Amino acid sequence: MSFAPPPMSLLAELTHRCPLACPYCSNPIALDRRASEMETADWLRVLDEAASLGVLQVHFSGGEPMARNDLPELVRHASKLNLYTNLITSGVLINDTTLEALDTAGLDHIQLSFQDVDEAGAERIGGLRGAQEKKLNAARLIKARGIPLTLNFVVHRENVARVPEMLDLAHDLGAGRVEIAHTQYYGWGLKNRALLMPSAEQLEASTEAVVKARARFGNSLAIDYVTPDYHADQPKPCMGGWGQRFVNITPSGKVLPCHAAETIPNVVFPNVATESLGAIWQDSPLFNLFRGTDWMPEPCRSCSLKEVDWGGCRCQALALTGDASATDPVCARSNQHALVMEASTAGHDGEFLYRRFGAI
Ligand code: SF4
Ligand code: SF4
Repeated sequence: MSFAPPPMSLLAELTHRCPLACPYCSNPIALDRRASEMETADWLRVLDEAASLGVLQVHFSGGEPMARNDLPELVRHASKLNLYTNLITSGVLINDTTLEALDTAGLDHIQLSFQDVDEAGAERIGGLRGAQEKKLNAARLIKARGIPLTLNFVVHRENVARVPEMLDLAHDLGAGRVEIAHTQYYGWGLKNRALLMPSAEQLEASTEAVVKARARFGNSLAIDYVTPDYHADQPKPCMGGWGQRFVNITPSGKVLPCHAAETIPNVVFPNVATESLGAIWQDSPLFNLFRGTDWMPEPCRSCSLKEVDWGGCRCQALALTGDASATDPVCARSNQHALVMEASTAGHDGEFLYRRFGAI
């Protein structure tokens, strides 16, 4: 078996608990309950193992990672190990006291998610009354402490018209970076795809808004823009390639090549409770399943782009074709590309299925 270079980033999903209920949440449909969450000592050991393996950055995520009282302890430990620490949060649990604890622990950066700029729109998606005000307050507290701030907006057909205002808000709040990310259709997003899918015209308008804002704000605001796969004809290099740059650990300790990988059938999911992170990264069947190019079918196998997009997304291939080893049907060269085109223009009826424990 060949040696895999170490992952650059660890996504530590500390908990699936969250006060919000976004219908595009990247968490799996089968959410981990509190009772199955790893203990503080387990996470401290995982951080040690990550640093030894060569990981450079830890993204503390969830659910809402601030729902765990041990978050400052974990941040402090990661900082001592010289890991760059990033908190991905909804911000609704940020106040002077909780932020001070994280700042003192050495937190390097915060990614603060917003559901919308419009309060009613934000509450319709997140399902939490008063959340918008709490988030705005959180952004101001973060800025006042001088912690580098990124704003995240997930966009979809209900809020995509407000991308210009989202960019303005990020600038006005003093964020150094903003991410405008069209919804990705896995897990909860896939369940709600018909209601979230933007039209081609909406996508074009949002792209135009980003181009204009980049010209207007220049270096004062970095803008990351993630387009929806379904209106494309070439897939993205999902996670920079399976088992190449990222490792994801779930609240209960499962180690995954990406947050949606729990959908892959007929594989054993390795767990840090029984194996070291290094052994899992190098040798586990899961991480070697789609690593590199040997697994690829045609047309990827003989394609000049196979080491550019790595055949696209395995979880998307599974969700759309029923076969995780198929060419991602986003690719125009896939003989199943029509599935993507049909889904991108399907009707938009129904009600949101909100992300909640026991919703399904
Ligand atoms: S996407 Fe929404 S529901 Fe999911 S973790 Fe983030 S804030 Fe919570
Ligand atoms: S055929 Fe495969 S490698 Fe080539 S562009 Fe399509 S998905 Fe990428």
